[in-house]
Amino acid sequence: MESVECLIVGAGVIGLAVARALALAGREVVVVETESGIGSGVSSRNSEVIHAGIYYPTGLAKTRLCVDGKAMLYAFAREFGVPHKRCGKLLVAVNEGEVGKLVALKAQAEANGVTDLVWLSASQARALEPALNAERALLSPSTGIIDAHAFMTALSGDAEAHGAMIAFETPVLAGRVAERGLTIETGGLAPMRVFASHVVNAAGLGAQALARSIAGMPADRIPPLHLAKGNYFSLSGRSPFSRLIYPMPTPGGLGVHLTLDLAGEARFGPDVEWVDAIDYDVDPGRAASFAAAIRAYWPDLPEGALKPGYAGIRPKIARPGGSTTDFLIETEKDHGVNGLINLFGIESPGLTASLAIADWVARSL
Ligand SMILES: Cc1cc2nc3c(=O)[nH]c(=O)nc-3n(C[C@H](O)[C@H](O)[C@H](O)COP(=O)(O)OP(=O)(O)OC[C@H]3O[C@@H](n4cnc5c(N)ncnc54)[C@H](O)[C@@H]3O)c2cc1C
Repeated sequence: MESVECLIVGAGVIGLAVARALALAGREVVVVETESGIGSGVSSRNSEVIHAGIYYPTGLAKTRLCVDGKAMLYAFAREFGVPHKRCGKLLVAVNEGEVGKLVALKAQAEANGVTDLVWLSASQARALEPALNAERALLSPSTGIIDAHAFMTALSGDAEAHGAMIAFETPVLAGRVAERGLTIETGGLAPMRVFASHVVNAAGLGAQALARSIAGMPADRIPPLHLAKGNYFSLSGRSPFSRLIYPMPTPGGLGVHLTLDLAGEARFGPDVEWVDAIDYDVDPGRAASFAAAIRAYWPDLPEGALKPGYAGIRPKIARPGGSTTDFLIETEKDHGVNGLINLFGIESPGLTASLAIADWVARSL
C-alpha cells in the first residue's frame, strides 16, 4: 500500500490553499480530486468578491477568518500577479426605514474590526454612482473582486512548486480509521489504497458524503447538508455602476446585489433558492423577481436587460430559516479520529477566507 503524510480531498480553493500551506511548511502533500481540473465545484460558481467582513456575528471563526483572509488575499494577489481590483462597494438603504439596518451593519462591522466604512448621504452616493437610488449608503473601500480561477491556478502552481502533487479524476470512495492515520480508497482510472497520516476533507458539497464513507468517523459529528442555490442574471449592455451595490441582506443571503467582473460586466445575484438536489440551471422566470429587487436601488433597469447567467450552490449546514452558522472545521479533538480534519459548511466568505483557513488547518495538524 502507498503511503503519504497529508492527503487533501478536493481541489477547490480550500483544498488548494491547504495543500499550499502544508507544502510550504515542508509536509508531503497529495491532493485527490474527482474532476479533471482544479476549481470545478463551488469555487467556480460564486461572485468572486473579496469580502470586507461586515455582516457576520462577532465571535464566529468565520468573521476573523474573513477579515484576516482578506488582507492575506490582497497580499497574495499582488505577489502572484492574480488579477483583482479593490473597487469598493456601496451598502444601500433605499428608504428611511432601512437606515436603521445600515446603522446596525456599521456597528457590526466595527465590532468585527472593519473600521473603514464611510457614511454617504443620498447626494454623496449619487455623486459616486449617478444611477443609484439611495436614502443613505455606506461605502466599504476594502471590498474588491478577484479572478477566482487565476487565484486557484496560482495556489496550485505554488503548492506544486513546493512539492505537492495533484491527482485528478481520483474520487475518494471510502476510508477507514487506522492506527495513527487513515486508509483511503480511491476510484477513477487508477484505483488505489493509500495510508495517510493526515486527511483533510475539503470536498465542499461532498464533505458530508466523504465523512460518512469513512468507517470509524462518528456519524453524530457529521452535520446535515442543506443546499441553497444562488442564481445569477447577467446584464446586457454596459454596467451603470463602477462599484459593487448591495441592498440590505435577506435570510440566507446578501440580497440581490450587483457585482462586477474584472472586465466591468455586471451580474445580479445570487438569490436564495432552497433545493433538494444539485442542479445549475437558471429558471428565466426568476427574472421578474430579480427586476423588482434591483429596481429598488436602480429604478432605470431597462426592460428585458436581464439574461439568465449561472448558478452556484451554498453548502449550508443550517436548515432554511436557521441562524447564521459558523464554518465547521472539526479536528481530532471534536470527533476523536486521529489525523482527520473535516471542513463543513464552507459557504461565503470561503473564497475570501481561504488563505486564513489554510493557515489555521496547517497549524492544527
Ligand atoms: C453562490 C455563491 C456565491 C459565493 N460568493 C462568494 C464571494 O463572492 N466571496 C467569497 O469569499 N466566497 C463566496 N462564496 C463561497 C466560496 O465560493 C466557497 O466558500 C468556496 O469556493 C468553497 O471552496 P471549497 O474548496 O470548499 O469547495 P469546492 O470548490 O466545491 O471544492 C471541493 C472539491 O472537492 C471535490 N470532491 C468532492 N467530493 C470528492 C471526493 N469524494 N473525492 C475527491 N474529490 C471530491 C469536488 O469535485 C470539488 O472540486 C460563494 C458561494 C456560493 C455558492
